[in-house]
Amino acid sequence: MIYLDNNGTTRVAPAVFEAMVPWLTEHYGNPSSLYPSARRARQAVEDAREQVALLLGCQPRQVIFTSCGTESDNAAILAALRRTRRRHIVTTRIEHSAVLKLAAHLERNAHAVAYAPVGADGRVTLEALQSLVRQDTAVVSVMWANNETGVINPIEDIAIWCHNKGLLFHTDAVQVPGKVPLNLSALPIDYAAFSGHKFHAPKGVGILYVREPDKLGSILHGGGQEHGLRGGTENVASIVGLGVAATLARENLDNEILACAQMRDHFEREALNVFPDARINGDRQHRLPNTSSLCLPGLQAAEAVKQLGELDICLSAGSACTSGSGTASHVLTAMGLSESDAQATLRLSWSGFNTPLDGPRAIQAIASVRQAQAATLQTA
Ligand code: PLP
Repeated sequence: MIYLDNNGTTRVAPAVFEAMVPWLTEHYGNPSSLYPSARRARQAVEDAREQVALLLGCQPRQVIFTSCGTESDNAAILAALRRTRRRHIVTTRIEHSAVLKLAAHLERNAHAVAYAPVGADGRVTLEALQSLVRQDTAVVSVMWANNETGVINPIEDIAIWCHNKGLLFHTDAVQVPGKVPLNLSALPIDYAAFSGHKFHAPKGVGILYVREPDKLGSILHGGGQEHGLRGGTENVASIVGLGVAATLARENLDNEILACAQMRDHFEREALNVFPDARINGDRQHRLPNTSSLCLPGLQAAEAVKQLGELDICLSAGSACTSGSGTASHVLTAMGLSESDAQATLRLSWSGFNTPLDGPRAIQAIASVRQAQAATLQTA
């Protein structure tokens, strides 16, 4: 199998899996209990918190384990709203549904939301956000890097401006670990969301970073877990795996960035050679090293993804959550692509588990699928 959908999800790293097993088979005590195996589980959770804090560049007490990126995004925005009577939210048109669907829900429930546009490069500007902020704005939420295009937003400038304005700032940073250096303690970001399965930990475990945990309040009411902030027995094995994945992401960061960028850039050069009418969507400079959003005019990308799947090549059209839905990507149309160009776009995303041959093989397969689609159209 050629797996080029690492923004969708990643393979669990072997070292992550190995580290998890004993917490499922041997040391399965509840970390809140008092016998020795339970105390070991408690310690394992705290060790993982430290490993995650090292990756994020923050204090362990600022790390809260959640079930996924979606939960972290929801919890962050709802927590920000609990801190104030203000009811206005500023976000962007290119957010993941974890933010957009919550925003739509809040709009139906006595809140107002403003959505910043992006340029043709897929980036949000500070100016666009500034023009939307009102007296009653409670929180600004802007994704660090977009999952479909890989485009990176000017998060540092936005965070500093929001902080100076007295606005709470949340960033959906789900696509960032292992691809961009992180040092959250150097930035006035109030909340950030992460998800284990995007960087070689298992699905079903996420992180909520909170700059001032004392001001968070409970995000799940129940037991006293996560310092009383998120009730619910900890997913010990997955949290241990997340800790190991965080260490791997930190230690391998430079190599991973280099390897992915080389494979991605080689793929794009080849693709533009083979398909002279192709276009790369989004800013090429401010972009994750592992992501390519490739528009092949005329291609039925959703259909192509299925056809490539038959050839054991995994990639996506738009984001994993919307692919198959038949509607054009909201991210690409926000960048000004026509519906048909958005529907002709493939997303490929690499990880350190890819080999340099994966890209060229994908190009061959895409070429044959494109030819087959064109032939079918002609005979129709
Ligand atoms: N935010 C972004 C940018 C994502 O890419 C994703 C997953 O695709 C999420 C949030 C949701 O993460 P999870 O699948 O862990 O809920």
